[in-house]
Amino acid sequence: MNIYKDMGIDDKVYKLSESILEGLSDRFNEIDRVAEINQLKVVKAMQESKVSEACLLGTTGYGYNDIGRDTLEEVYSRIFHTEAALVRPQITCGTHALALALMSNLRPGDELLSPVGKPYDTLEEVIGIRPSMGSLAEYGITYSQVDLLSNGDYDYEGIRKAINDKTKLVTIQRSKGYQTRRSLSVESIGELISFIKSIRSDIICMVDNCYGEFVEEIEPTDVGADMVVGSLIKNPGGGLAPIGGYIAGKTACIENAARRLTSPGLGKEVGASLGILKDFYQGLFLAPTVTASALKGAIFASAMFEKAGFPVLPDSVEERVDIIQAVTFGKPEGVIAFCKGIQAAAPIDSFVSPEPWDMPGYDAPVIMAAGAFVSGSSIELSADGPIKPPYAVYFQGGLTWPHAKFGILKAFQSVYDAGLINLL
Ligand SMILES: *Cc1c(COP(=O)(O)O)cnc(C)c1O
Repeated sequence: MNIYKDMGIDDKVYKLSESILEGLSDRFNEIDRVAEINQLKVVKAMQESKVSEACLLGTTGYGYNDIGRDTLEEVYSRIFHTEAALVRPQITCGTHALALALMSNLRPGDELLSPVGKPYDTLEEVIGIRPSMGSLAEYGITYSQVDLLSNGDYDYEGIRKAINDKTKLVTIQRSKGYQTRRSLSVESIGELISFIKSIRSDIICMVDNCYGEFVEEIEPTDVGADMVVGSLIKNPGGGLAPIGGYIAGKTACIENAARRLTSPGLGKEVGASLGILKDFYQGLFLAPTVTASALKGAIFASAMFEKAGFPVLPDSVEERVDIIQAVTFGKPEGVIAFCKGIQAAAPIDSFVSPEPWDMPGYDAPVIMAAGAFVSGSSIELSADGPIKPPYAVYFQGGLTWPHAKFGILKAFQSVYDAGLINLL
């Protein structure tokens, strides 16, 4: 307790947190149970792929016969139960991985469909929803979208109508991203995929898996997805991967992506891993428990801010399908105070104060709090929010549960100090 006081947490705030945590023990036990299963899933995949010490070394130049890189891709394909995977430091981030999967598997004249509403902000320019140089739209690839119904369900009738002869690929975003919609469970994604395949079985179903990896016991590729795509500076990098993205799925999809990433004729055969593989392997090994820490943080944040009267999504009792927690403050001051609190809890750069700025790829100023070992890593304790209505902050990450807890206490304290919370 004294250490918390030393670190700037009032007695009142700490007491509230203690009573809240008592009520969360069953949830935390369930999270630990899933982490245990996923930990073994990762170890099993590593053992079956015969990961050896030599795999931790890297190649230079062209990267021919990079056993560590090729074996890591085998490990990913075993974890996701797919035919193939592409896991590369040359994939610079999640948006790049998604753009790569889309641009390599779509051809001029094809149509892309999102049956779950507007995709993640940075994909708007990839698709050309917001006109942009090099977008899919510029290549003559059209886009159609069917929003979720107001109760969060799929609009099956709307989706049936939207599917036409040109529909080649369906993109399904598992996590809500910067929206206040519900995130999708793997089971529910499976139902949507079955419906789409029942209309036309040759439509490629891709899932934007960002923030969802290892939250559940199964992944979207276990329920029919042809491709899952994500970032290594989120869940599967376990906080250690300093860069990278992955695509796991059907051989044909992965081959297309590899040829787009490098070149036709070269595909997966080139791409030196340099010295990065140990972090990719070790991060993947840690990812299940790191994800569990982040999940506990998200639930704790939800319960604390719910108690303080703010709308939270998900709420403190509903099932979790990703590590993102949204808290709606209704005014910019709340978003800003929350982010300043998260920043003040960081191991790195705790002394700086985040301010809203016009980030590339976003259509409103965004404030971001992160004091991370890996710049921009959002599996580390971080928060961000666009400064626009409904003034919601999105909180995620935490490499360890004690640190996630501390971050939320600092954020809560900061919002409290800004006069936005009444504590009796
Ligand atoms: C983070 C994220 C992305 C984009 O990933 P970056 O690494 O930030 O480019 C795409 N989709 C979702 C749902 C995300 O959470």
